[in-house]
Amino acid sequence: MSSQPVSAWPSSIRLRDLGSPRRLVPMVLGYEPISEALSIRGGRPERFLLEPVTAAALVYDEAWILLDTGFDVDVVRDPVRRGERFNYDSYTAVVPPGDPLRDQVAAAGLDWGRLAACAISHLHGDHSGGLRLVAGRAPLLIQAAEWEFATTVAGRRDVYFREDYLRPELEVVLLDGDTEIAPGLTALDTSGHTPGHQSFQIELADRGIVLACDAADLRACIDEVRPCGFTARPDDADAAVAAIRRLAELDRQGYEVWPGHDPEWPAWRSNGE
Ligand SMILES: [Zn+2]
Repeated sequence: MSSQPVSAWPSSIRLRDLGSPRRLVPMVLGYEPISEALSIRGGRPERFLLEPVTAAALVYDEAWILLDTGFDVDVVRDPVRRGERFNYDSYTAVVPPGDPLRDQVAAAGLDWGRLAACAISHLHGDHSGGLRLVAGRAPLLIQAAEWEFATTVAGRRDVYFREDYLRPELEVVLLDGDTEIAPGLTALDTSGHTPGHQSFQIELADRGIVLACDAADLRACIDEVRPCGFTARPDDADAAVAAIRRLAELDRQGYEVWPGHDPEWPAWRSNGE
């Protein structure tokens, strides 16, 4: 088996010539029941929210970039693999009919042949499952600290599914902290929830958006400057606080900071309408 190509940014990929991003397409690729205590520090453990599993496509004139990828629906629908993978207390993966990533990409009028890159906030299994559609088409951009954790420490007990991202045909490009990936798209170091978590700052013609991803599951995390309730490493609790302060500051500056998993957030509620 050939080994997986892994290189440091900027590697050989060229994203500088894409022009300006024209639109951001929000996608809801499934749902998951999550204890409020996991989503926000101080949340009630006994209160469960049915949280959307979110992603987005940033669309340029001739290309697009995928941001997060949802579950692997083939695994979710296979009773044996589902039982092996999602064997956690009070957790299940909920997916709509069809293949939500494929279907929503098609509904947005996007062509996989024009996928320029895929950037993922972190490699938890509700974000990594769509890499099966990215492999062989476009590189995965991920923080080096996340890749290191995901390939040396984290495994199924941590909700990291190595088979999602250890694929010989998936090219990996490692970012080191804040990085301007493409015109109007910057990866922000918001580590804490996981060792190499990143958020995405997006400059459209008329608005600035920050996809917080899991650095702020809920809008209340931003409004109340309360971090996510879970960190993959206990020592990263302070980093999670720094991350939410950073996102709250961007919110004060006028960016729309979109929470990663908030069922009430308008962009996720109106998905598909
Ligand atoms: Zn996560």
